[in-house]
Amino acid sequence: MDFNQFNLDSRLNAGIRSVRFQKPTPIQEAAIPLALAGHDLIGTAQTGTGKTAAFVLPILDKLLKGPGKRTRALIITPTRELAAQIHQTIGILSRGTNIRSVAVYGGVGAGPQIEALHKGTEIVVACPGRLLDHIGSRHAKLGEVEILVLDEADRMLDMGFLPDIKRILKHVPARRQTMLFSATFPKEIERLAQQTMNDPKRVAIGISAPAETVSHTLYPVPQHLKRGLLLKLLDQTRTDSVLIFTRTKHRAQRLAKQIADGGYKVTSLHGNRTQGQRRQAMNGFKKGQYQIMVATDIASRGLDVDGISHVINYDMPGTADDYIHRIGRTGRAERSGEAFTLVTPEDKKLVQKIEDVMSAKLPRQTLPDFNYGSPKPDYSKQNGNAEAKVNGKANGKSNNGTKRNPPHRSKRRAR
Ligand code: AMP
Repeated sequence: MDFNQFNLDSRLNAGIRSVRFQKPTPIQEAAIPLALAGHDLIGTAQTGTGKTAAFVLPILDKLLKGPGKRTRALIITPTRELAAQIHQTIGILSRGTNIRSVAVYGGVGAGPQIEALHKGTEIVVACPGRLLDHIGSRHAKLGEVEILVLDEADRMLDMGFLPDIKRILKHVPARRQTMLFSATFPKEIERLAQQTMNDPKRVAIGISAPAETVSHTLYPVPQHLKRGLLLKLLDQTRTDSVLIFTRTKHRAQRLAKQIADGGYKVTSLHGNRTQGQRRQAMNGFKKGQYQIMVATDIASRGLDVDGISHVINYDMPGTADDYIHRIGRTGRAERSGEAFTLVTPEDKKLVQKIEDVMSAKLPRQTLPDFNYGSPKPDYSKQNGNAEAKVNGKANGKSNNGTKRNPPHRSKRRAR
């Protein structure tokens, strides 16, 4: 099958040619005809499957058929990075048309967004908080929206955006086409779909199973030796493009510094960084200026960076679904990738869950020249302040394998 068979408006050919997609991905093959026929759609698809183009192409096709100069399509996403990415994809795919989009999110000046909204930009790609601000100040007028996309709905739920979404929905006409994409379907998302959609068709691609192009390895390690093991692992790995996940913003910040001390070009992406710093980190990582990016789940959700060769879970994610999401950053669009996960004895239950979801036992690996017997540092003798030496490297003081914090869940608005 190729893109011609969708009978898309010929003005979209230039965009499709410029992204050099040879053939549609499975989610595109399933979703595009249904969306073009005007159906409401529930898509179970993780990022990396090509779902953005699966909703962007039908939106563009529909918008080309009607008059412009007003907001006709609204795409709501959980994170600023994802909004920026979707906006960028629209920019490329709409190349041969006059259709424009605006990305609406916080952390940047509102002026250009307001100007674009007043010009009647047809597609608005927005994070909930800033969009509500623009609705409140009457800059965003959604009364003529024909297509609504709720992207990464499960993540929006996790981030506490459901009430915001319900408020936004009050400003969008009930007669519209709605597409909802989610990697998982907790009860609240099913309920939201029931309340907001009209006889939706379902397309499910790769339900909660990571891309087959990724190989997975677990590295059992005591908590206090994690950093030593990671540095050893990096030593033995081709580190052109490595994404490392930690559980908290502070751990991301600290680990990035420690890896940089090991001579690597490293950046970090987490909620304690300003929007400018986040953008700079992302762009630098995309361009290869940084070999390694250390990130938290929230900040890196949905990121589309070409050619990430390794995802390393320095800390286990909170749930099996989060594992799938993280791993989705590599092995994208049929390239191969590797996923390394450092597992401590406390992670046993979650490992079991991940193996259940994947219907496979994941291989365990030990590094032959790593000293797994190094004792746990005794902080009581070090005033709780000194850095302990582990495997010849300094060991972070709070990384002592005691109680785990719950996974980070930001309730803050993505403004
Ligand atoms: P997404 O799941 O939308 O984030 O897309 C993941 C990656 O797949 C992006 O880098 C897209 O450019 C790429 N992609 C999307 N559709 C196709 C396609 N039909 N052929 C090849 N690559 C694609």
